[in-house]
Amino acid sequence: MKSGFVSLVGRPNVGKSTLLNSLVGKKVAITSNKPQTTRNIIQGIYNDNDSQVVFVDTPGIHKPNHKLGKVLNRQAYYSIDDVDVVLFLVDGSESLGPGDKFVLDRLKESNKTVILIINKIDKISKEEILLKINEYKDLYDFAEIIPLSALKKNNVETVISVLKKYLTDNIRYYDEETYTSSSEQFMISEIIREKVFNETEEEVPHSVTCVVENIEFSKTSVNVMASIIVDRDSLKKIIIGKQGCKIKQIGTCARNEIEELLGKKVYLDLYVKTIKKWRDREKYLQEFGYYDFEK
Ligand code: GDP
Ligand code: MG
Repeated sequence: MKSGFVSLVGRPNVGKSTLLNSLVGKKVAITSNKPQTTRNIIQGIYNDNDSQVVFVDTPGIHKPNHKLGKVLNRQAYYSIDDVDVVLFLVDGSESLGPGDKFVLDRLKESNKTVILIINKIDKISKEEILLKINEYKDLYDFAEIIPLSALKKNNVETVISVLKKYLTDNIRYYDEETYTSSSEQFMISEIIREKVFNETEEEVPHSVTCVVENIEFSKTSVNVMASIIVDRDSLKKIIIGKQGCKIKQIGTCARNEIEELLGKKVYLDLYVKTIKKWRDREKYLQEFGYYDFEK
């Protein structure tokens, strides 16, 4: 039996959450093509006969321009210090940039076993993969380098077999059926937030958070009441859309996925609320579950 904690770090949008879902074989983290989708520490748990790996997904490390951003960076740093192995992800289809170097500098201070994951290899040629490996290998003393495609699930299983070499615990932290430590309530709010990300452009999704206000289970169905919170009234209009068409679309997509998650019929009531500057207000960050490790 081998077990341990492994965090996924890297700049926003390199595919950390996509890889987490592929490793665990379930959707435990929402993903989008926009940076800074992940806002909490999310654990996805991989189980097999002789191992358990708790993967810790983190918000991408970036230069913050809101209090929320600072909280997110601290979450990511905290998760580096608290695990056995770090998977450092880069986007193989993009060139190495200051964002990657920023994260790498932070890793250097941590003295952890770091495995480099070169993701999105479905977008590049074999020759380019080799070039990337060469480019990265001198930057840091990586324990291993694994090129893969998290999205196409290509070479993802290698991560598990390689990790077994580095994990040292020998207990199961969770029972074998558990694949995430997130609550159902949190997963529902995240599903709604993902649909907002999908349905809106530019800055809109970053100003949004979602909260499940009430949830009632009956034998055959579930009633969910949730709020989509924005930080200015103009965004409220965008999210509602012409004659409510956008909110309707968000609701339908979210409901389908929540039904899959819960295995029951779902009635979803969505409200849109404005709370001015919530991303810079301590009280609301706490209320919406953005835990600050500085405290
Ligand atoms: P995160 O911010 O690092 O968690 O990144 P996400 O997991 O949210 O992914 C960001 C975007 O990259 C999404 O649009 C994903 O579908 C895409 N993506 C992730 N992994 C791959 C991959 O292996 N190949 C390709 N082509 N796209 C990927
Ligand atoms: Mg993410």
